[in-house]
Amino acid sequence: MEKISYQYSEDFAREMDAKDPLRSFRSKFYFPKVEGNEAIYFCGNSLGLQPKTTQSYIQRELDNWANLAVDGHFYGEDAWYHVRKKSKPALATIVGAHEHEVVAMNNLSSNLHFLMVSFYRPTQERYKIITEAGAFPSDMYMLESQVKFHGLDPDTAIIELVPRTGEYTLRTEDILRVIAENKDHLALVMMAGLQYYTGQVFDMEAISQAAHQAGALAGFDLAHAAGNVSLKLHDWDVDFATWCSYKYMNSGPGNISGIFVHERHAENHELPRFAGWWGHDEGERFRMEKGFKPMYGADGWQLANSNVLALAAHQASLDIFEEAGMEALRKKSELLTGFLEFLIEKISGESGVIEIITPKKPNERGCQLSLLIHKGGKDVFDEFYKHGVVGDWRNPNVIRLAPTPLYNSFLDVYRFAKILEQSLQKFA
Ligand SMILES: *Cc1c(COP(=O)(O)O)cnc(C)c1O
Repeated sequence: MEKISYQYSEDFAREMDAKDPLRSFRSKFYFPKVEGNEAIYFCGNSLGLQPKTTQSYIQRELDNWANLAVDGHFYGEDAWYHVRKKSKPALATIVGAHEHEVVAMNNLSSNLHFLMVSFYRPTQERYKIITEAGAFPSDMYMLESQVKFHGLDPDTAIIELVPRTGEYTLRTEDILRVIAENKDHLALVMMAGLQYYTGQVFDMEAISQAAHQAGALAGFDLAHAAGNVSLKLHDWDVDFATWCSYKYMNSGPGNISGIFVHERHAENHELPRFAGWWGHDEGERFRMEKGFKPMYGADGWQLANSNVLALAAHQASLDIFEEAGMEALRKKSELLTGFLEFLIEKISGESGVIEIITPKKPNERGCQLSLLIHKGGKDVFDEFYKHGVVGDWRNPNVIRLAPTPLYNSFLDVYRFAKILEQSLQKFA
């Protein structure tokens, strides 16, 4: 990473923006207003902003529907029958996969279940799942209910990784040790790629390798990782993964999810799955006959015909990602988050009011920083909002801030720092 001497000054922030090769991307998004002013939006970890092109992408499909109706499925280049193919190149780039290893479908929580059906096959001997403690609730409920579905007890089947006493994040060596210790009974390691609360990125390559050495599989929930950090799912030998598109991928509230299934499982017809007609061999789909024949790769996990309007909104954002490039985004992201970290440390200083619990190393985090507020807590956060900062609050006392490289500027970060300084003077 480029070594930068950050400075707490508006001129410095403006200089950084002037040098930023991605600065023009900001104007491609709508910013919400708080108290009549454009917000300092640091909440892309929860809901990414709307690209200005989204409306026209959706409108085009509405027009196709109006003008072609049912013929829209098969008519012309944009035929809905093949609509899923459009998002594949960008998705493959974003998660580091071959195109046949990814497909956009369903919602994240649904996909977690469908993938577990195929990749969590507990036996008398091998039935344990390793996950991180304090996982996102949907993931906890998913694992618990999957384990019960197989007639097992979550208390014995699910092993939660807990940070060492006095630490907030997990050490890779500890994760690998627990995997190795459970090698006789381990079926699956299923955890976040980037932990939503702490902002920690796990070493997915090392974890996948350790899981395989232990005779188990490895899957990741990439809700907070996709579109945020560099991923190489294929090379890392991850078995399966899923993500949502409404956080860093700016595709709209609740919009479509995506899955990754490693090539090694692409033709394994023995894998059980809950099938639907859209996963069936596309050339024979309309024969409407008995006998499910899964399509090659991730496509074989599809169930239902593609949600065209959802995919249109998704595509508007994916096209922006293709234009910006993940490498450039990640480069800016490290600088932007580094600047935020520098300013917070400078302002909080010796007082120790704010503790950043997200790892310091750029390869162990994405754009988000999680701040533990030791004094003032919710008052500080509410004061942020009054001054136009949109972040998010997680009980008991964590503020998550995610300056995203596509649409946030160094000036945003500087302005936030000014507000932080005032809020701390008032409440901490
Ligand atoms: C955001 C998020 C979800 C949300 O799941 P949906 O099915 O999209 O509602 C699930 N898991 C993790 C880790 C998340 O960050």
